Amino acid sequence: MLVAGSTRSYIPATLVKFTPAKPALHGETSDSLTAQLTAAGHPAFRARQILEWLYKKRVRTTDEMTNLPRDLRAWLDATFDLEPTAFVLDRQSGDETDKLLLELRDRSLIETVIIRAPMLGVGVEKSRKTICISTQVGCAMGCKFCASGLEGLKRNLSAGEIVHQLIQVCRQEDARTPRARAELASFDNIVVMGMGEPLHNYDAVIRALTIVNAPWGLGFGARRITLSTSGLVPKIRQLADEPLGLRLAISLHGATDEVREQIMPVNKRYPLAELLPAVREFSEKHGRMVTLEFILIEEINDSLAQAEKLRDIARDLHAHVNLIPYNTVEGLPWKRPSITRQERFADVLRAARVPVTLRREKGHDIAAACGQLRLQTEKQRSASLSRRSNALTRI
Ligand code: SAH
Ligand code: SF4
Repeated sequence: MLVAGSTRSYIPATLVKFTPAKPALHGETSDSLTAQLTAAGHPAFRARQILEWLYKKRVRTTDEMTNLPRDLRAWLDATFDLEPTAFVLDRQSGDETDKLLLELRDRSLIETVIIRAPMLGVGVEKSRKTICISTQVGCAMGCKFCASGLEGLKRNLSAGEIVHQLIQVCRQEDARTPRARAELASFDNIVVMGMGEPLHNYDAVIRALTIVNAPWGLGFGARRITLSTSGLVPKIRQLADEPLGLRLAISLHGATDEVREQIMPVNKRYPLAELLPAVREFSEKHGRMVTLEFILIEEINDSLAQAEKLRDIARDLHAHVNLIPYNTVEGLPWKRPSITRQERFADVLRAARVPVTLRREKGHDIAAACGQLRLQTEKQRSASLSRRSNALTRI
């Protein structure tokens, strides 16, 4: 367990352990599925057929897997869950973003977002269609500005629940363009920037992204996947040694320990003196630029002194900086600075030729709103539950 400072733990010990009745089939790798098939007396070559039904044809039931014998279909049904997430609602913001709200088997809610406009600053400048996926229900890291962390961590997502979000995205695209079947390859990028701290659910996230990347899985290039972290240093080092080759973004949000630890408790455990060398090692091993994300929050981290420190850090790491005007969260006091103040901050970086993106257009700060739709729906749910129990008490 991680401990902030010497006294307060910010990763709750009361993490809910959810054991689904059956594991999700989308969480199996080619090897693990083959092993289970052969152990159950089925031929190994069936794994390839099953994975084709799942990822090339995206079927929902074993009835549709027409080239499999009946006993194998029955075994699959008895052993695995084929639909670990259920589509609840799609909130569209103009033509640019779709926020999919998905419900898990234990009724937890997660968000997956499709962005249909350029999303600058995640290391890829010309992206047109980006998917933002979640890795946990809630988040334990407790960043003071973030809707996902407000109620702590409920539980980790399984690899299958992470992968299935992308299946839901493809289905949603199918619904938009009924004649052409959407392929994941028609998206430019996947960003692991939804709800949760991906490196706090390391094994499931790596397993899921391996399935997303594999030719027998969704076949999506790892260099088009960006993982964003609040800075769990040992896990950044571990990630640097993974053969997958993902891109990395760091949620910096403070250019000095003093400012960063005020809004991100994780900085007490892994201060900048530990974080920045790990980021440098990652970028040297991978030979590509890391992105530093920096939310601009009025009077908290938007001073010119912070801009100068950020400039020095970015220059030193040869990193790209993504400035994100803060997205207000209901119930939190923080505000985004004026446009003039945002530009003045960005100018300090531009003057030093640090590659910097300042997101401006409405709807593009999608990762920013991470966790907000789910939080709203949870609130509505508990309001309607308490209305119902009030009514019962009155009876
Ligand atoms: N836990 C990971 C990834 C999910 S958060 C991380 O922290 O990096 C994705 C990004 O959205 C992070 O940079 C996070 O700091 C940012 N974010 C969270 N709440 C925000 C808000 N209200 N406004 C702007 N950005 C926000
Ligand atoms: Fe968790 Fe990221 Fe939100 Fe921090 S910003 S609470 S790490 S989801």
